Amino acid sequence: MTVPAPDRTTDRSGLRPDGPPSEVVIARTVADVQETVRRAARAGTSVITRGAGSGLAGGAVAVAGAIVLDLSGLNRILSIDPVDGTARVEPGVITAELDRSAGEHGLFYAPDPGSVGISTVGGNIATNAGGLRGAKYGVTRDAVLSVEVVLADGSLVHLGRPTIKGVTGYDLAGLIVGSEGTLGIVVGATVRLLPKPPQVATASASFATLEDAAAAVAAVAVSGARPAVLEILDGATLAAIDAATGSALREHGDALLIAQTDGFGAEQEIAVVAAALAEGATGVEWTTDPAEAHRLLTARREALPAIERIGRPLIEDIAVPRSRLAEAIGRIRQVAAAREVPIFVFGHAGDGNLHPIIVAEPDTDGAIPEVAHRAADDIFALALELGGTVTAEHGVGRLKRDWARRELGADAVRLHEKVKALFDPQGILNPGSGF
Ligand SMILES: Cc1cc2nc3c(=O)[nH]c(=O)nc-3n(C[C@H](O)[C@H](O)[C@H](O)COP(=O)(O)OP(=O)(O)OC[C@H]3O[C@@H](n4cnc5c(N)ncnc54)[C@H](O)[C@@H]3O)c2cc1C
Repeated sequence: MTVPAPDRTTDRSGLRPDGPPSEVVIARTVADVQETVRRAARAGTSVITRGAGSGLAGGAVAVAGAIVLDLSGLNRILSIDPVDGTARVEPGVITAELDRSAGEHGLFYAPDPGSVGISTVGGNIATNAGGLRGAKYGVTRDAVLSVEVVLADGSLVHLGRPTIKGVTGYDLAGLIVGSEGTLGIVVGATVRLLPKPPQVATASASFATLEDAAAAVAAVAVSGARPAVLEILDGATLAAIDAATGSALREHGDALLIAQTDGFGAEQEIAVVAAALAEGATGVEWTTDPAEAHRLLTARREALPAIERIGRPLIEDIAVPRSRLAEAIGRIRQVAAAREVPIFVFGHAGDGNLHPIIVAEPDTDGAIPEVAHRAADDIFALALELGGTVTAEHGVGRLKRDWARRELGADAVRLHEKVKALFDPQGILNPGSGF
């Protein structure tokens, strides 16, 4: 069987390059990266860095004449130290592979985006990826201790330190996390690993409406429990997953919450979560069976691919304070009705992070239609109005620059521009992406 070569000029956002790149470099060593960047700096050529291309913001989409620098071949786990609770990795390591290897030492790597099986640790660092376990363990920034970065002149710097504590100097490693390939190229990292929880318990609760499910998230927030996972899915998403996988999730209600607790008191804690969920649910079940938990979380990870089977989606990624989640969901429903477009909603409810997915018939040229973009604008506006953000975890990329600037405000944008100019005076690193 012939396997098609991966398209290294785009990502999963649906955005297409404005023209062919001049070159695609598949780096195997840090020296390859440095040599490529030095060459680009001399010629004033843009460099578009990419990991696995699973990004949803158009950050790894080529621009005409640029060098695409693919880091997926720099994929070694260099060391795992169970005493320090750290791993040293190259950027192209697949996230799930790091978690699996940590597991051999009784540890785990907490950041687990829905794309954990395909995305790279470097891409996760560049986007400050969140994930299903974010409700308890935070985002990628919380796991990164230090980074090795190739700067825009090809030099290599080490930022941060391998210790859990340390406050010498500005937090430049933290600045690189989430900088989307616009300040430097991450060629190595030391990340934090945590002891693998001895016990895991998983609950699922069905609700008559999505608003009821959102209200239950608030009930969990004040219950005293701290679930590692708290995911929300609406009826349309459940139906899409059912159609794609043969499951029967939709028949239990128009919304589903999946919660998972972990640690020594996982069973006791899930009982508290289940009691909080039961207030508004039509049914709640919980289990300590790993196979059942795996089935539920795998179904959740299928949400986006299942919707992609239905049509060409515009994938959004807002967050609002958890206390405003129900309001945000109600308002998204109003946008769908007013714009007359289907909007699927799922997300990391424990973080107030919703993924409204707008699926409208593509234009004749295959482009996402204007009505979908207008609906997205309405959703960004409501996120900001409710005190939230236009991108919780996918990043700004090429798709959300205008809205990111609106969210940041003129003063913060000026500071961003100064930081960018300091790191990348020629503006060759991922131009047109980020801020
Ligand atoms: C099915 C599905 C589910 C998803 N679920 C989640 C989720 O739950 N949470 C979440 O946060 N995201 C999610 N995503 C989005 C995506 O997987 C993440 O943004 C991920 O971090 C991208 O990693 P990547 O290796 O594919 O990076 P790419 O897509 O290749 O690149 C992403 C950005 O990072 C930059 N970049 C990549 N590597 C480096 C590097 N080494 N140095 C500097 N810059 C670099 C690129 O220039 C680009 O701007 C999902 C995507 C899919 C398809």
